[in-house]
Amino acid sequence: MDMSRRSFIVSSTAAAAAGAALAQAQAEAQPAPAQPMPAPMPRGFNPSDPALKYELVIAGGEVLDPSLRLRGKRDIGIKNGQIAAVATSIPADRAVQRIDATGKLVTPGLIDLHTHLCPHLGLGLPADEMVGITCTTTAVSAGDAGANTWGVFHHLALPQSRTRLFAFVHISSIGLAGGLAPGEMLNIDYADVDRCAKVVSENPDTALGVKVRITDNVVGQNGLEPLRRAIRAAELAGRNARVMCHIGAAPGNLSDLLDLLRPGDVLTHSYSGAGNNTVQNGQLLPAALAAKKRGVIIDVGHGGGSFDFTVAEPAMQQGMPPDTISSDIHSVSINTPGYPTLPWVMSKFLALGMPLEEVVARATWEPAKIIGRVPGLGTLQVGAPADVAIMELIDGPVEFVDTRNNKRSGTKKLVPVLAIRAGRPFGRPPLPTPFIY
Ligand SMILES: [Zn+2]
Repeated sequence: MDMSRRSFIVSSTAAAAAGAALAQAQAEAQPAPAQPMPAPMPRGFNPSDPALKYELVIAGGEVLDPSLRLRGKRDIGIKNGQIAAVATSIPADRAVQRIDATGKLVTPGLIDLHTHLCPHLGLGLPADEMVGITCTTTAVSAGDAGANTWGVFHHLALPQSRTRLFAFVHISSIGLAGGLAPGEMLNIDYADVDRCAKVVSENPDTALGVKVRITDNVVGQNGLEPLRRAIRAAELAGRNARVMCHIGAAPGNLSDLLDLLRPGDVLTHSYSGAGNNTVQNGQLLPAALAAKKRGVIIDVGHGGGSFDFTVAEPAMQQGMPPDTISSDIHSVSINTPGYPTLPWVMSKFLALGMPLEEVVARATWEPAKIIGRVPGLGTLQVGAPADVAIMELIDGPVEFVDTRNNKRSGTKKLVPVLAIRAGRPFGRPPLPTPFIY
């Protein structure tokens, strides 16, 4: 029977649709570009209402918001958990509560792309208890949970934290449950691609992608196979899932590992001095520079053993500055001399000569673009979530130590004062009453 015109059109349309679906699936198998998400329209109030009463005003601080290219003395009005105003002056009678931030630095709440803020799992710490020393209002759990331990993150850590949490799902089904010496990839059978992909695809609001650690005592004889499986799981999960790959004493040739990373994947511990470093004999590996140039995200992940000034300095000079500054804070690293709280790690980059605006961008706006889930995150734009960090930028001699006992002196440090998440301060007054959220 001849094919009717309609059935031809239907079948060719179906084929075209199938082709478009395939093209979309292929596109979604790649990591998302880091894209700005402008703040939404404010909800529940009109920001131009001259009688608008703010629930909280942060007054008189030096506001620094890289997304707005703003640095100057401003008052910030907050209402309904959103930024409602950024103005040169907000009259006192328009604020229910007021924080005097005179002489302080006021930035978007800090965003830490590499943390272990998932208690009851390996090295995890309780996120909210850290805020007083971190000013971190958004944090990413870097593979604390794998497919078999995801419930600890999803059902315990996430709902109990006011800190905004996201996660990379470990390619190993046990995640980091074993603590400091888990060897979670000694048994390659734990790297179950389908089950990891299932968790990532079922949790689009929180799971950013897949975590893998390539260190010789973690992977044993399995070499780069865990990374290959992590990439496969991310591709299978779609939704532009990323891979976050940890390095430091990786087996084999580090260039082989770097060549596998896709644009939009995250290299963490980029300045590790733990062995097989991105800088060898004083030279940045060409494969590391190539990775940076094709859009692999260069993350710091300081931690307790993964930041070396003698790697960071030549790497930055030779074209591989960090895209994101992160702490790798966990229950071991926080007790080490390198003291990896995010403001302290940021201060080390001030000492390395990075301007304050760039340092703040790499711990607010840049990681927000990589998270890519929350409009306005990492900004103080009107309508954005009212997540704010108040810190002191203290002038004076200061000494920093890395994780290999190299020391550097600086002239400034960032010291946390107060953090605010969705309009509610952490840990000290003024606190809203009733305290509900
Ligand atoms: Zn880590």
